Amino acid sequence: MFDYVIIGTGFAGSVLAERIATQLNKKVLMIEKRNHIGGNAYDSYDSQGILIHNYGPHIFHTKIKKVWDYLSNFTEWHLYHHKVLGVIDGQKVPIPFNLNSINQLFPKNLAERLEKKLIENFGYNKKVPILKLREVEDEDLKFLADYIYEKVFLGYTTKQWGVTPEELDPSVTGRVPVYISRDDRYFQDPYQGIPKEGYTKLFERMLDHENIKILLNTDYKEVLQFNFETGEANLFGQKFDGKIIYTGPIDYFFDYKFGQLPYRSLNFVFEQFNQEQVQEVGTVNYPNDYNFTRITEFKHLTNQTSDKTTIVKEFSQEYIPGENIPYYPIKNDKNLELYRLYKKEVRKYDKLIFIGRLAEYQYYDMDMVIAKALKIIDDKIK
Ligand code: FAD
Ligand code: UDP
Repeated sequence: MFDYVIIGTGFAGSVLAERIATQLNKKVLMIEKRNHIGGNAYDSYDSQGILIHNYGPHIFHTKIKKVWDYLSNFTEWHLYHHKVLGVIDGQKVPIPFNLNSINQLFPKNLAERLEKKLIENFGYNKKVPILKLREVEDEDLKFLADYIYEKVFLGYTTKQWGVTPEELDPSVTGRVPVYISRDDRYFQDPYQGIPKEGYTKLFERMLDHENIKILLNTDYKEVLQFNFETGEANLFGQKFDGKIIYTGPIDYFFDYKFGQLPYRSLNFVFEQFNQEQVQEVGTVNYPNDYNFTRITEFKHLTNQTSDKTTIVKEFSQEYIPGENIPYYPIKNDKNLELYRLYKKEVRKYDKLIFIGRLAEYQYYDMDMVIAKALKIIDDKIK
């Protein structure tokens, strides 16, 4: 009856379902553990009518025109450019830390000297990861690098990951490099925005097709069994000959045979206010204060007008299977090595396609997941 089973209805699963249904004209069963589609990009209206991102703030940004054009088939956009301020020494300064942040925090003479030296050493409009900046020899720049490291990265990273920046793959803190520029935006990608009617509406439009059936509230292991010895699968007790696309945690699929892959989880605490606005930008980071990492006020992102507002505070926590949700793969050499063992297992079976942030153990943004899904279909059609 079905040609494909897709486990998970986040961007990885949903883009593939839509493409398979419309471009390959094949039948798809989607199995989703949660009681809704959309994975971590899901949004909904809270009790005071504010559109919130239930699994933390999601800002769409990409350099890939093809990805933007693809999503634009299912949504119009609120053309939003995200801004983040970080509370440093009692002041709110632009993050990524940039030339404006320097000018706000340091006396004029020192700020001018630092700015000049940064431009001489790295060039204007360049992005320098903090761990790279810390390698400089110059005394003034060394002071600056240590300052940024301690005030912007050390506390935040320790809260978010439970380890220091050095204990993670450099690409993690490299996501938010020091920016030698006066551009205060969080991202510089040419395509940025928030779906005008929300992400959930976008997913609904993608998946509204007669070739797609969705089973919610179901862990796939309840209805689908995969035999690791024969490579055969059973769906609802009958032999299933089609392909299985899996977007959940890779170690769970293989019953943790090589041990658990560490992920990081979060606790989202939402607060409602009977006032129009509580902070000046979409997100305020708290690297040094409190137990949460950041506060996001959704109305900045969504452009919703209301005399009420809702914020979310993010408290990071250890991931415990069965208890909370794995949000972030923890990228370091040891974990990536363990991941590669699982990846080798996937390759043994023609039937299996593993894609997405959890199944590939990659710190993917939404656009990268969508690009990968589109490529799988393009390759297949070719
Ligand atoms: P997911 O969205 O996680 O979907 C996987 C789905 O599989 C889930 O619905 C899950 O319930 C389901 N599933 C798992 N196991 C099973 C099972 N056993 N049986 C059935 N179903 C199962 N990206 C951006 O581009 N911009 C942002 O601003 C941004 N902000 C983020 C903020 C936070 C706090 C987080 C956690 C992520 C953020 N991301 C952002 C990343 C974005 O969420 C991911 O790139 C995207 O969700 C990945 O899609 P996916 O389909 O791979 O995974
Ligand atoms: N980071 C930090 N201080 C900040 C912002 C980011 O230390 O003010 C580090 C931290 O380790 C964080 C990583 O950079 O986890 C990536 O930040 P990003 O905002 O991309 O995280 P995400 O939105 O994916 O949670």
